[in-house]
Amino acid sequence: MQPEELFGLALGIDHPWQVVSVVFSKELKRLDINIDFKRGAIFPCPVCGDLVPVHDTTEKTWRHMNFFQYETYLKERTPRVKCPKDGCGVKLVTVPWARSGSGFTLLFEALAMALAREMPIKIEAAHLGEHDTRIWRIVDHYVEERGIVSAGRDRKTGEHHPPALELVRLTIPRRVYTQSHMDYVADKIIELHEMRDRINGLEIAWEPAAGSLRFFLMRYSPRGGRLIN
Ligand SMILES: [Zn+2]
Repeated sequence: MQPEELFGLALGIDHPWQVVSVVFSKELKRLDINIDFKRGAIFPCPVCGDLVPVHDTTEKTWRHMNFFQYETYLKERTPRVKCPKDGCGVKLVTVPWARSGSGFTLLFEALAMALAREMPIKIEAAHLGEHDTRIWRIVDHYVEERGIVSAGRDRKTGEHHPPALELVRLTIPRRVYTQSHMDYVADKIIELHEMRDRINGLEIAWEPAAGSLRFFLMRYSPRGGRLIN
């Protein structure tokens, strides 16, 4: 078995895609995995799902998780399809290893999200050798910053959209607060975490009509009428 085939298996790249070459650069500490699709392959139109032939291709690169110390990139001559249906037109095919519009593979994004739970984004970005704005873009895609409050409701069912993570961002003016203030804040957060099972949380008591800034205007009340059990 050729190394290209092995890389294809390891990355889960399947017909009609295939790994055609793997290029190591010792100087750049970089590994490029070049992917192509089989000649004559047809792809689903991203709008209607009909299988349609390839119109043209465009070069795309996605950052993947490092292989050892090598920064790894997937590169592909990505097909665009031309669908004859009204409202479809020429569209870039969705590849199975990345979401559309992202410069990272899904595995890299999963790693970025796992690390984001453990450390500040700035430190994570330095760790991954990425600019923190690019990591924030991944986090913003998967997480509603104010959690369920920002995520809104399903228009049809009225159910809340559950976010992948509930986050709280603390914004601290550095010239105002000292280390001892921050020690106090950290102590209080730890204290809250330790009593988390006794905290009932809040529920939405009132919210404005759809289309308003619900997260600014909504009112809350303690679940079960009490904040803490
Ligand atoms: Zn179509």
